[in-house]
Amino acid sequence: MARRRQIYEGKAKILYEGPEPGTLIQYFKDDATAFNAQKRGTIAGKGVINNRISEHIFTALQQIGVPTHFIRRLNMREQLIRQVEIIPIEIVIRNVAAGSLTKRLGIEEGTQLPRTIIEYYYKDDALGDPMIADEHIACFGWATQDEMNDIADMAIRVNDFLSGMFAAIGIRLIDFKLEFGRVWDGDFARVILADEISPDGCRLWDSKTNQKLDKDRFRQDLGGVEEAYQEVARRLGLLREEDEVAVLDLDSHRKKRGK
Ligand code: UDP
Repeated sequence: MARRRQIYEGKAKILYEGPEPGTLIQYFKDDATAFNAQKRGTIAGKGVINNRISEHIFTALQQIGVPTHFIRRLNMREQLIRQVEIIPIEIVIRNVAAGSLTKRLGIEEGTQLPRTIIEYYYKDDALGDPMIADEHIACFGWATQDEMNDIADMAIRVNDFLSGMFAAIGIRLIDFKLEFGRVWDGDFARVILADEISPDGCRLWDSKTNQKLDKDRFRQDLGGVEEAYQEVARRLGLLREEDEVAVLDLDSHRKKRGK
């Protein structure tokens, strides 16, 4: 049987040629990386869960009018997406100080920010995804000013929507990363949301306990990584009961590991 053509392999996903022109298949792996791929590992079942969580979120965003590349989920680990020209910028939206913001500016983790911050990073592994300003984007032609305006507007809408969606299930949306791509309609380009939205690229804290329910558990060796991803899916109503692990207790998990 002819093997379908692989278009690209990234750290957490593989892209295959889709069934029709202008489509791709996005396959979610269990591989996890952190610190610009200096730390590598696998999180069992992560691909399956991220596929479901991302499907859920992209579908909800489409329903409120945010255009995305998502077409439909095909199976446990794959979804059909529109092929886009990826804009080489990672958009990070922050509501609460964490991660690189705390390190760069010496702000204590967990500090509520008085206003939402949008940051831009140039997508280049060899350079370690450096932070950039609007001026760099315009200067090097990575996106037009109109595209950047659309991206910032969509990022704020996504943030408002997701903050509410997660708040309703007892989760604080601390920060997250988005990627956008261009689709062409004749001579006109339009920007749509691409990539994925999952605990790999979001910081999600339990509202009551501030327990981390995201990739920081992997980054910081906190244990209970699989359980945290499952807990997010469970609270979103995406896991059937028989899929669920016993009641999540990250504290006892940590104690068991002697931390
Ligand atoms: N993020 C991501 N991919 C990256 C860098 C960051 O998905 O290559 C996400 C990360 O999960 C977090 C947010 O963007 O939710 C902000 O990340 P930060 O700049 O604090 O960097 P980190 O501490 O993750 O290195």
